[in-house]
Amino acid sequence: MNNPIKAIVINKEDNNYSASLSQLNENDLPDENTTINVLYSTLNYKDGLAITGKGPVVRTFPMVPGIDLVGTVTTSTSDEFKNGDHVILNGFGVGEKHWGGLAQKAALNSDWLIPLPAAISPKQAMQIGTAGYTAMLSVIALEKQGVKPDDGEILVTGANGGVGSFAIYLLSQLGYNVTAATGRVDQSEYLKELGASQIINRDELSNPGKPLQKERFAAAIDSVGSHTLANICASLKYGGVVTACGLAQGMDLPASVAPFILRGVSLIGIDSVMRPKTDRIEAWERLATLVKADYLDKISTEITLEQVIESAEQLMEGKIRGRVVVNCQ
Ligand code: NDP
Repeated sequence: MNNPIKAIVINKEDNNYSASLSQLNENDLPDENTTINVLYSTLNYKDGLAITGKGPVVRTFPMVPGIDLVGTVTTSTSDEFKNGDHVILNGFGVGEKHWGGLAQKAALNSDWLIPLPAAISPKQAMQIGTAGYTAMLSVIALEKQGVKPDDGEILVTGANGGVGSFAIYLLSQLGYNVTAATGRVDQSEYLKELGASQIINRDELSNPGKPLQKERFAAAIDSVGSHTLANICASLKYGGVVTACGLAQGMDLPASVAPFILRGVSLIGIDSVMRPKTDRIEAWERLATLVKADYLDKISTEITLEQVIESAEQLMEGKIRGRVVVNCQ
């Protein structure tokens, strides 16, 4: 079989970086044990960096980008999956060092795949994508630390971002009292619709602050890093917990040990990319029960493979809000 496959392909020759919608053959696909008809992929910030060449995401060329995908297994030599199974992939270096989801077909290692939960559709899985999955991992981390809805305010930073908006939604679905920190306070109504009870301006957290501040938050989900994360640590209540998954403000962490040794606070790192399979399955099963279809439709738009390159430029220019789902068929 050697049917043509539409795919976004990134090349770099003599320092000329290019991305185009190309036609591949099945023989061109990597030598992996499972082949998938890709139903949907997404455009994450990382994909935008890869496609536009604005960040060093792609490690080998040529590369098919796309860190998330959902599709139907067509062939597999693994015992785990059979033809017709619906599977999800997030991360594992796919779209960076292994060919990814922005194509009609993909060949992947079955170890990277998990089953699509029965309660959600393929499109819904990509409306959720890495952003929702990372937010869910963060919420589960708070739960595992014993954070309860009646413990008090839970702070979510980067509130209008992919991870932040899902974190607000998931926490509110679970009955937590959520405070959203945002640079776009004009979006307060939207954040309240997602489930935030209080909105604060992110400027309150983004500048250098005292090592110990007034105890305010029972817990926090941070995707911003830098001074924001330092100020969160300093303003957690005694025994509070913060998860850190991102660096939207910066990679640095200009904090002191005071909150850890005087208030017993905990800082929990969240990585979604290399996360073990059991954690992935747990997170996706939880997402399938918590996320409602009307919320997903409200926060996402659908495009085709033909529109991916233009949309990636718009994403990098900050002109897109919410999740972009790519219909790959
Ligand atoms: P988005 O770009 O969608 O959102 C980031 C949000 O952060 C923005 O919407 C904005 O929210 C806020 N923000 C932007 N710049 C600043 C700044 N200078 N200071 C403070 N806040 C700022 O990204 P995602 O939500 O998809 O990802 C968030 C972070 O998490 C990224 O750094 C990403 O790389 C990381 N990430 C990590 C993962 C992991 O496995 N560890 C997985 C997924 C993402 P607002 O306008 O409301 O202020």
